[in-house]
Amino acid sequence: MTEASVNLNNGGSMHEGTETVLEPTTTAHPLTPVFTRVVRVRRETKDTWTIWIERPDVYPGHRPGQFNMLYVPGVGEVPISIASSQRESAARIAHTIRRVGPVTSALVALRKGDYVGIRGPYGSHWPVGSAAGHDVVVIAGGLGLAPLRPAVVELLKLRRKLGALALLYGARTPEDLLYQRELAKWRQVLDFQLLVTVDRGTRDWHGHVGVVTTLIPGISFDPSRTIAFICGPEIMMRFAVRELLSRGVPPNQVYVSLERNLQCAVGFCGHCQLGPKFICADGPVFPYDVIEPYFLVKQL
Ligand SMILES: Cc1cc2nc3c(=O)[nH]c(=O)nc-3n(C[C@H](O)[C@H](O)[C@H](O)COP(=O)(O)OP(=O)(O)OC[C@H]3O[C@@H](n4cnc5c(N)ncnc54)[C@H](O)[C@@H]3O)c2cc1C
Repeated sequence: MTEASVNLNNGGSMHEGTETVLEPTTTAHPLTPVFTRVVRVRRETKDTWTIWIERPDVYPGHRPGQFNMLYVPGVGEVPISIASSQRESAARIAHTIRRVGPVTSALVALRKGDYVGIRGPYGSHWPVGSAAGHDVVVIAGGLGLAPLRPAVVELLKLRRKLGALALLYGARTPEDLLYQRELAKWRQVLDFQLLVTVDRGTRDWHGHVGVVTTLIPGISFDPSRTIAFICGPEIMMRFAVRELLSRGVPPNQVYVSLERNLQCAVGFCGHCQLGPKFICADGPVFPYDVIEPYFLVKQL
């Protein structure tokens, strides 16, 4: 194993020790992206797009919950979660991107045939493989559905091995709901509890209104055998975790995905440090019992 691959060997599992370890894309230098083409762009909401790119030859594959560094020459590079599962397509990779600043604006302006730089995948993943035999509760807020989407796709493929399966999804308004066609398709799966809510309804919205945690009483699950995956704004994750723990879900079976200012993605620069943890190398997906002391400190 090369020095670079030792340092970069964070594509594997810290939660599922027996699984194959994936190594990030290898180029001449570990921080150099490889270039690949955009194959499809779809607008999701007023400020969010999903972009599919061709899988580069050197890309080793990814797991649900991992992220890539996407690079637009002359603009910059940012971490973006992987929004597709390899079980859907081995040839292309999806990222769902909200336009907030210079790099994300340049990314969502890309069109079919344009080139984009990619390095990755990085980080820990949702332990989908450990969900067999458990009830599974997935809770997503806003853009947090993007990193959870590949986990949901894989959980649905594992459906027969799971107990109860629920996805609770909340967005600010009906216009902010991602993947609306897919949500409608998932609704048709008979033994999948999919509940959607918005913070503010509109005249045409006849669904649930309220924060996502208000959906929890509406699903059936056995807390002691539940594994939960949660991603969204930190305040939403705090309330969701608190609610699940109060119902008896064990803290080591609750997983959250954290976001911080993240630059190198390989555990060197320290920008994404959270206490003794690096979001890029130890996370972004953490079991709650591991991250609890830092998770509760605001702005850390
Ligand atoms: C592990 C990880 C996974 C991520 N996955 C995704 C993803 O799947 N899709 C996605 O769109 N973004 C994702 N992000 C966030 C994304 O990396 C940032 O939005 C991006 O770095 C902003 O770069 P910029 O140059 O466009 O804007 P900047 O100039 O860096 O920021 C512009 C403004 O937006 C604010 N801002 C930065 N990040 C966010 C944010 N996440 N939400 C709201 N405001 C923000 C900044 O504070 C600043 O005020 C992820 C971040 C991490 C750490």
